[in-house]
Amino acid sequence: MIKFLDLNKINQPYFELFQEKLKQVSNSGWYILGNEVKTFEENFASFCKSKYCVGVGNGLDAIVLTFKAYIELGVLNEGDEVIVPANTYIASILGIIQSGLKPVMVEPNLATYNINTQLIEEKITSKTKAILVVHLYGQLAEMHEIIDIGNKHNLLIVEDAAQAHGLHFVGSYTRTYSFYPAKNLGALGDAGAVVTNDEKLAKLIQSLRNYGSKKKYFNDYQGFNSRLDELQAAFLNVKLPHLTADNDKRKHIAKRYLNKIKNTKIVLPNCTDFNNHVFHLFVIRSENREELQRYLLENEIETLIHYPVAPHKQRAFTEWNNLSFPITEKIHNQALSLPISPVMTDEEVNYVIEILNKWTF
Ligand SMILES: *Cc1c(COP(=O)(O)O)cnc(C)c1O
Repeated sequence: MIKFLDLNKINQPYFELFQEKLKQVSNSGWYILGNEVKTFEENFASFCKSKYCVGVGNGLDAIVLTFKAYIELGVLNEGDEVIVPANTYIASILGIIQSGLKPVMVEPNLATYNINTQLIEEKITSKTKAILVVHLYGQLAEMHEIIDIGNKHNLLIVEDAAQAHGLHFVGSYTRTYSFYPAKNLGALGDAGAVVTNDEKLAKLIQSLRNYGSKKKYFNDYQGFNSRLDELQAAFLNVKLPHLTADNDKRKHIAKRYLNKIKNTKIVLPNCTDFNNHVFHLFVIRSENREELQRYLLENEIETLIHYPVAPHKQRAFTEWNNLSFPITEKIHNQALSLPISPVMTDEEVNYVIEILNKWTF
């Protein structure tokens, strides 16, 4: 069976170093916001070519704490509208809502699955104050167009980079990351971070993640408990040096898939520049997605659907259920994610290609 993602195989090469770290952290007697968190923050900021990194509990909290901090700084106000792609993972939207802001969904571009920049301006009102860019599946969104729109309408830009570790874009926007185990850089549990060049913002998030206190037991803000765990930071310190090589392996697999999968019933993703994609997911589309998934499973190939239900169609958002986002709905009806990971062998990749090319419907 070719697994969709073999996390055990991904982490196995690091098990000994993880044990070492476990010993070190246990022996240190300091388990919250210690040296490992500090080291990871320095290393990840520098990896992202950014000035500051603040480790937090998970990727959702990274979004919430970022927006809450912008509200504390007076850059945003509660109730402000935030533009977000309609086909993103639910966390982007929940992050906006849980910060007291209002998500305004925009359809994606069917070629890239990222926000359709031509449809943003028609959604802008006097209350629109920010854009939450998502680099979905690991592909850079159309940043130049987004920056132009942002400048023209004086909007704050924040990037949800939870699927885009190692994607380098020369911009100085605040980015949120998740280190959920299945991400390109994954911990052995929940973890997240905010990366920014804004010193005030970084300091504020450091405080907000820790009960709103800079000095222990003195609370300047009504904060949260969302600190990056010391052990998870230690594991991430072990894995970070391998992220670029891991992403290169993903790109290698993606190139093979793109060159070799030839089936008129399957739509391959668009990638015009491999420097702008880290292939967190390799998502194909088919009008007979369910049959294709069953066929692949019968042939011992595991796939996943990212995601089966669009945010506006979720039961959690009954008030949006009647809204119409046809492109988003089409993607959610047709998307199927093929196995892709740094530990997939060439034989496995070839086998997936062979089976896909044989599929007739
Ligand atoms: C995974 C993910 C998140 C949330 O990360 P968690 O660590 O699970 O909270 C946010 N946005 C996107 C686009 C994601 O893929």
